[in-house]
Amino acid sequence: MKKLFIEQTADKVGQEVELYGWVNSKRDHKQIVFIDLRDRSGSIQIVGNESLKPLSPEDVIYVKGIVKERPKNLINEKMKTGKIEVEVNEFKLLGKAKTLPFPIDSDGSNIDEELRLKYRYLDLRRKRMLKNMLLRSSFIQEARDYFYRHGFIEIHTPVLSKTTPEGARDFLVPSRLQKGKFYALPQSPQQYKQLLMIAGIEKYFQIAPCFRDEDPRADRAYGEFYQIDIEMSFVEREDVMRMTEQMIIEVFEKLGAKIKQKPFPIFTYKEAMEKFGADKFDLRTEEDKKNNLQAFGWVIDFPFFEKTKEGGWTFTHNPFSAPLPAFKQQLLEKQNIESILTSQYDLVCNGFEVGGGSIRAHEPNVLETVFEIMGYKKEEVWEQFGHMLEALSYGAPPHGGIAPGIDRLLTCIAHEPSLREVIPFPLTSGGRTSIMEAPSEASQEQLAELGIAVKTKSRNKKVFDQIRELLDSHTIQYKILEHPPVYTSKDAAKIRGTELTQGAKALIMYGDKKPLMLVLPAHLSVDMKKFKMDRRMKDLRMATPQEVKKITGVEIGAIPPFGNLFEVEFYVDKKLGENKDISFNAGEHTKSIVMKYIDFERVTKPVILDFSTKI
Ligand code: ASP
Repeated sequence: MKKLFIEQTADKVGQEVELYGWVNSKRDHKQIVFIDLRDRSGSIQIVGNESLKPLSPEDVIYVKGIVKERPKNLINEKMKTGKIEVEVNEFKLLGKAKTLPFPIDSDGSNIDEELRLKYRYLDLRRKRMLKNMLLRSSFIQEARDYFYRHGFIEIHTPVLSKTTPEGARDFLVPSRLQKGKFYALPQSPQQYKQLLMIAGIEKYFQIAPCFRDEDPRADRAYGEFYQIDIEMSFVEREDVMRMTEQMIIEVFEKLGAKIKQKPFPIFTYKEAMEKFGADKFDLRTEEDKKNNLQAFGWVIDFPFFEKTKEGGWTFTHNPFSAPLPAFKQQLLEKQNIESILTSQYDLVCNGFEVGGGSIRAHEPNVLETVFEIMGYKKEEVWEQFGHMLEALSYGAPPHGGIAPGIDRLLTCIAHEPSLREVIPFPLTSGGRTSIMEAPSEASQEQLAELGIAVKTKSRNKKVFDQIRELLDSHTIQYKILEHPPVYTSKDAAKIRGTELTQGAKALIMYGDKKPLMLVLPAHLSVDMKKFKMDRRMKDLRMATPQEVKKITGVEIGAIPPFGNLFEVEFYVDKKLGENKDISFNAGEHTKSIVMKYIDFERVTKPVILDFSTKI
């Protein structure tokens, strides 16, 4: 077993040591060869004879030798082990390394991210990533330590669970024992942590994995992320906020971070909207940014409900929240719903939401009314949330909690531009896992056992037919127009007899090397600069006609605005939604479809953004 980290050799002058590690670099001086040997802790100079010559960078070796002081003129003050070197008596090659697919002595920011994720186990060898992994580990250790000292119990809640409303799409897991039924991966442990309060746990926390199948967004990690999930009984809003703030301050400062303002300033939602135009805001000045200050703030007094597109109500943050006490009666009477405020509190850091929580509805009638306001019938509420309503009726303590997101907090401390830099094995923005390339197909046997038949989307099937199938499966009304071939939006509008403004122009682009589809009204063009800024992209360019063909199977000029069919990131400009009807070439120069915009948005589920500008 390896007994010594390289860093620990510094005080072992004169002693024989055994070291294990990777060849960081090699300098060959005829009879004498220098190796920089690296392990997790650092690196050290190894001096040996010609037998070291066959070694190459990233080989894994074992070395036995004597620690010696370096001659004065060869001391390297910058290295922890710069005053010493190890003279080799014995060495073994333990693992030969091929040439790596990319250099690991840089911070990696110039290397294509897909490539870095494909070889994440090599990417993690770079100093920057090792530092981030160590930071992550210390962060979790400090947080745990805080909670244990303050009387919290760490409890794991199930990962195979039931679908629950948290505002995102669920990941489903098919059941073999009950064919045709599904588990859902938790979007958060919300209901379980509340059940733990009813169970009398009083103070719970968990480093909890959460799963949300959301459309790609710049400020979220796709797929899975970790929260410090917290719940406490017999508390009011201010108690949870104070405890969270203390924990964050303590953990951040132990990790060497500097916080701009303590206690954290508190804004009501109304104040935040008036002052910053958003409920997430960056309180740092340019000077603060230079000094790496972390600027936290709270937002409270959010509206509980917002109007849905269909004219009903939905929750703004969390359906399990209680309204602020002053609004309880109003909620129970379902009066002036738009003015009801929730007990929700959001924590903001450097312009990002880094966590949110609330005091919960611990009286079953309050929770039931929340779902009724959102349009659930009584039976539906009981069918879906009966377990919670029942649990709340066996002596539920008043309780509340919060869930700061670990990944986002770490990007703040580490000054990293993306969440993926602090996650060991993140999913790509297109939703593929690093290295192993999931999702992947299941075998026929697996599918048969699960009672699942996969409708294969045949590449041979014409895009036109795929669109029709999609629209038909949602029983959507649309009109097909057959016409002589058209190649431009203007000609298309003329021949269809439709307005140019209602033409849905679909463009394939590459943003930071990933294919995307942008759809906008045909009379407008893409404001590349703005889109890049909004999406925090470094690089954005049009795809070539060949690339377009490869991605969509369709000729340029006939691309339908169905990014969802081509598995690319998919964005639609807000202004397209100003049309009642939209029209587009449906994968062929001679066929167009006219349909309601609202139906289009419903079936394709794009990310709606504002990126158009006049031509
Ligand atoms: N369940 C909420 C979330 O994941 C957090 C909370 O209210 O505690 O965002």
